[in-house]
Amino acid sequence: MSTAADVRLDPAAKVPMKVNAFEAARQGNTQLLPLFPYQGAGDIVPCVAALASDGKGMHIGYFVHTNAVDEVGVSFGSTGRIRSGDVFVGHKSHGVGGDSDQAFFAVLVITQRQFESGDQPEGVTFQCEKCATELFRYDFDGGLSDEESRGDLLPLPSLKGSNDAAMMLNTDEAKRTCKSCGHVTQPFPLHIWGWGHYMRRTGITSNARRALVEAAQS
Ligand SMILES: [Zn+2]
Repeated sequence: MSTAADVRLDPAAKVPMKVNAFEAARQGNTQLLPLFPYQGAGDIVPCVAALASDGKGMHIGYFVHTNAVDEVGVSFGSTGRIRSGDVFVGHKSHGVGGDSDQAFFAVLVITQRQFESGDQPEGVTFQCEKCATELFRYDFDGGLSDEESRGDLLPLPSLKGSNDAAMMLNTDEAKRTCKSCGHVTQPFPLHIWGWGHYMRRTGITSNARRALVEAAQS
């Protein structure tokens, strides 16, 4: 049986793998959790997300995601705007999240195919929660080379970029202050998105894996 670690240790291996999206969603530490260890050039990268609102003013947060590649979404069970079983392709620049006055839940698998080569521009934009004026945009390269994706356990660039963007927004009130209406938007609720957990655990896991490889070689 192949495990994610085996696959990463053997650069030639890219064996088919399968995963239960519900199990992954239940155990995931982040929104947009990659389901498979293939995140390099040309790879198809399905990621699972689990979002919900109580419809009573719960602050989920909202941002505009700009991607160079198409994202195909599949609902594995949802209420509200997205129906169970829906398949959708969003605009390359699309809203993500959003507070709702109606209760909903959604387990979604969002899949994108990485570019074969070159930069893969991606961006996260936060808006004023009162008047929707752009507050702050952060751009990054959404691609990993095949070598990068098979070496150290690097984070999916979408997750690192989104986490970096939200941290910059949250730690700088000037970035959250609207130039149009003066409103100070509340910090982005990172605890709901989990990107920080994913980044921390990615760092720990990467160190541990390196330590094990070194121990085996000594
Ligand atoms: Zn405003």
